[in-house]
Amino acid sequence: MTASAPITQDLLTIPRKLPEDGRTNLVGLTRDGLRDALIAAGTPEKQAKMRTTQLWQWIYQKGVRDFAAMTNLAKEYRALLAENFTVEIPEIVSRDVSADGTRKYLLRIAGGHEVEAVYIPEEDRGTLCVSSQVGCTLTCSFCHTGTQRLVRNLTAGEIVGQVMVARDDLDDWPKPGEGSGTRPRLVSNLVLMGMGEPLYNFENVRDAMKIAMDGEGISLSRRRITLSTSGVVPEIARTAEEIGCMLAVSFHATTDEVRDRLVPINKRWNIATLLDALREYPRLSNSERITFEYVMLKDVNDSDADARRLVKLISGIPAKINLIPFNEWPGAPYERSDWDRIEAFADIVYKAGYASPIRTPRGEDIMAACGQLKSATERARKSRAQIAAEAGL
Ligand code: SAH
Ligand code: SF4
Repeated sequence: MTASAPITQDLLTIPRKLPEDGRTNLVGLTRDGLRDALIAAGTPEKQAKMRTTQLWQWIYQKGVRDFAAMTNLAKEYRALLAENFTVEIPEIVSRDVSADGTRKYLLRIAGGHEVEAVYIPEEDRGTLCVSSQVGCTLTCSFCHTGTQRLVRNLTAGEIVGQVMVARDDLDDWPKPGEGSGTRPRLVSNLVLMGMGEPLYNFENVRDAMKIAMDGEGISLSRRRITLSTSGVVPEIARTAEEIGCMLAVSFHATTDEVRDRLVPINKRWNIATLLDALREYPRLSNSERITFEYVMLKDVNDSDADARRLVKLISGIPAKINLIPFNEWPGAPYERSDWDRIEAFADIVYKAGYASPIRTPRGEDIMAACGQLKSATERARKSRAQIAAEAGL
């Protein structure tokens, strides 16, 4: 499989105003952005900070979206808000629930585009995997999303909105009278591991994660948020400084020759350059360790020699190696490594002093596992195109 697609950052402009009625959606505005918007709509400057906090609490802590229900605001002020603003989140088009409890949401966002988010429940908590782009500009040869062209970047509101959609669906908002810590939270962790390359949509991802981490916002600790990148080196230090969440990197190979094929961004920033940036991350972000994601592809990157090279390469970096058995998708050019091969690889890494968990595939029956995401409309479009081609149209 060749990997020759352009490695570029598409800067796409997304309207903040909703086209239907010109009102501004408050979801995804930073604190400063919200404050400015409130002042522009007629809120006295002296009150703007307090109103910002009150609105954030209603929207992100209580899950309330109807201004009329925001009872600590004066009636006239609620009317002013309703005239100027909306509180909108993506709409659920469909929800699939896997035999193992994993939930995959197909979500519609402005412009009729679709993205997927996946909730993976654990004992008394759960991880939500969110998307940052519709499609992806990169073309990692083992990733289903990579076969879908980039349509557009998600706005900050569409990114944090995925968390709100899942909390709605799981009934994960505090009930009236309940404090925020009364019940265990079902969406307790976030991973930016859905569709798209988060570091090619830096500002929107940053603003969304700031809301997710803020004590008056969604209120998740930065240690419960993991951003996964394929290796956009210039943005790694910025991630540490401006977001400060946990970092995962899609490493997947131990030689540039193989990584060029699997993760083509490697041609731009190779293994040595990537490792230099990663070495600095824990200090800059004050986080303990980096997760190295390593997809196990039969006879491609799964030998004992690979395992030994891997531990040598990362020596000195506080790290955990997450081994991901390859998840198949229609037309994929790879196979999953055999189980005993994955275990032998994990053993070498473990004996070298690194935690080496093997990620149990979740939600495979609904195509919700890592690298299987691709929106249904795009699937439909591709298959119609294929049908047309086969019919000689
Ligand atoms: N674009 C980002 C985040 C999304 S992908 C990135 O590449 O890091 C999330 C993880 O799933 C990445 O480590 C990715 O390499 C991995 N992945 C992609 N396709 C996969 C597949 N078919 N099987 C297993 N893991 C896959
Ligand atoms: Fe994009 Fe990540 Fe898939 Fe690569 S693995 S194509 S960067 S979503």
